[in-house]
Amino acid sequence: MIRYAMTCDKNHSFESWFASAAAFDKLQGAGMVQCSICGSVSVTKSLMTPALQAQARPPEAPLSTPGTRAEQALAEMQDRGGIGICRPVLCGRGAGDPRGRRA
Ligand SMILES: [Zn+2]
Repeated sequence: MIRYAMTCDKNHSFESWFASAAAFDKLQGAGMVQCSICGSVSVTKSLMTPALQAQARPPEAPLSTPGTRAEQALAEMQDRGGIGICRPVLCGRGAGDPRGRRA
């Protein structure tokens, strides 16, 4: 459902719900969108009502929390060897450590 604020040719403002933007266009094209005050079918669609915009996500959404949890999950997978990245502790003691080998 979508809510439109509309204005008729007599400058009445009203709101109405439609199934979709396409449904509104279809109804208006068929002359089935009427002013709720005077019944005029000469209505124009105004901007979206503020009530709809208020439902938008606030910009201060806690994006860091899910990201941190995803990183933790990834780190756990790496710890179990699931991704094939060696752990720093093992690498430091490994035979391939250049610091531990002097030719
Ligand atoms: Zn009207």
